[in-house]
Amino acid sequence: MAIKENLLRIRENIEKTCLLCGRDPREVKLLAVSKTFPISSILEAYEAGQRDFGESRVQEFVPKYQQLPDLSWHFIGHIQKNKLNKLLDTEVFIHSVDSLELAEKISEKALERQKVVKVLLQVNIDDDPSKFGFTSEGLLQNIEKILQLKGIAPTGLMTIGALHKDPKETRASFAKLRGLRDALSEVTKHEFPELSMGMSGDYHEAILEGATIVRVGTGVFGQR
Ligand SMILES: *Cc1c(COP(=O)(O)O)cnc(C)c1O
Repeated sequence: MAIKENLLRIRENIEKTCLLCGRDPREVKLLAVSKTFPISSILEAYEAGQRDFGESRVQEFVPKYQQLPDLSWHFIGHIQKNKLNKLLDTEVFIHSVDSLELAEKISEKALERQKVVKVLLQVNIDDDPSKFGFTSEGLLQNIEKILQLKGIAPTGLMTIGALHKDPKETRASFAKLRGLRDALSEVTKHEFPELSMGMSGDYHEAILEGATIVRVGTGVFGQR
């Protein structure tokens, strides 16, 4: 029962934040990050109206997907090249395209399967050496090449916020991602409407800075 109440509370928080900054709550998708949690927890969230779920490890995601193929699945973890075939045999929105090489591989394998995969480009917005992702400069340099890949459709950017003590700093990182998105749109004349940013501890700040997808794990399912 806790999952249902958690979802209600988070949806309420999202609405409050949207009201505060004059956004329409329907612009913000809640992604329930179900990694490490069993199918029974996913079903409990589904019963409470949740439809979008996120997973971060291919070997955990694929069996869950096979059991519940009709949910709206998002992949949010770093992808090892040797797991790509398994991942692309599913229907999934990939948030974690973190290099040009990976973008090329995904595109190639998508085309082999005669499909186009919806993706987000992951940015290491704070240049944290422990995180994956394009640097801002790297993405600006490679964006034209990425847009030429026929097997992927990049619809926006994703980042993982740094763990700052001060929420103002967290918010500044999210503002940077939005700024980068605007710059990319400007130079490419291509729209990147989606911003996947904000987790259990910082989705409020992310929404204030324009998040369209917030990825909440602990807040929905409890401690891992
Ligand atoms: C685990 C994870 C989340 C969810 O984190 P919580 O703090 O549990 O909300 C969000 N995004 C990514 C990329 C993750 O790996």
